[in-house]
Amino acid sequence: MGEVAVMHSEPLQFECNDINVNMTEKEVYPPESNVEHLPGEESSQSTDHKNINDLQERGYMEYGCQHYRRRCRIRAPCCNEIFDCRHCHNEAKNDINIDQKHRHDIPRHQVKQVICSLCGTEQEVQQNCINCGVCMGKYFCGTCKLFDDDISKQQYHCSGCGICRTGGSENFFHCYKCGCCYSTLLKNSHPCVEGAMHHDCPVCFEYLFESRNDVTVMPCGHTIHKSCLNEMREHFQYSCPLCLKSVCDMSKVWEKFDIEIAATPMPEQYQNKMFHFVAQKCPNCKSYNTRQT
Ligand SMILES: [Zn+2]
Ligand SMILES: [Zn+2]
Ligand SMILES: [Zn+2]
Ligand SMILES: [Zn+2]
Ligand SMILES: [Zn+2]
Ligand SMILES: [Zn+2]
Ligand SMILES: [Zn+2]
Ligand SMILES: [Zn+2]
Repeated sequence: MGEVAVMHSEPLQFECNDINVNMTEKEVYPPESNVEHLPGEESSQSTDHKNINDLQERGYMEYGCQHYRRRCRIRAPCCNEIFDCRHCHNEAKNDINIDQKHRHDIPRHQVKQVICSLCGTEQEVQQNCINCGVCMGKYFCGTCKLFDDDISKQQYHCSGCGICRTGGSENFFHCYKCGCCYSTLLKNSHPCVEGAMHHDCPVCFEYLFESRNDVTVMPCGHTIHKSCLNEMREHFQYSCPLCLKSVCDMSKVWEKFDIEIAATPMPEQYQNKMFHFVAQKCPNCKSYNTRQT
């Protein structure tokens, strides 16, 4: 997560022109600007300056879980238990050892209470502890109830998505047709597919809009995890699992097929049929991936 922009992947057998959307992590609903919550914006009088600075820094990066550096824990509104973060909750509550009917995800926008990690005071969601005053997360989104001391992720809240994302708002734009934030590098060059991100990955079936792993747009406009696409390639699959269009520019490969087919005449009974032992070419788009049924 977190790397920005178009990433051409490792050298493959041929050039691929798929594009990395850099889907990022995101958190909770509903839309609302988080600008006023950005840390470090409060103007401080010089007398208080040292104190405020101290509260910003005390315990900074020392608390949290494997998912976030933060100085508070949350009370899950669903089961009324305390967790480091919503991912910790969801992992614990969807464990295979938990009775199926008790498994659940946290309704993250309904989180109301947090517990300061420094003084233990339980309180309503806010950036600074009402008791000890410590900043509980340098990045704070009141809409998403998201706290994170690791601001190197360049979190921002997208009101179009209704959630916080990472990678820096200057590097992304919200495409209202696709319904998702894409790298600004794709602004005039990505194929728009209505609700492109609001689907499961065709390989692993994770819901892409909420995925914390990088997502890529294939040339057909369908979306897929970057890692799942790479896995497909490792197994020599180069077509979109949804529409079977090529996931990269395969014209060089098709040329090879053309040559090989021309050099391999079919037995008489197959001639004039749209079938060849070597491969089958789509008469419409000249691709050998697109199969018509
Ligand atoms: Zn719960
Ligand atoms: Zn966690
Ligand atoms: Zn406190
Ligand atoms: Zn947010
Ligand atoms: Zn967005
Ligand atoms: Zn779009
Ligand atoms: Zn996947
Ligand atoms: Zn497709």
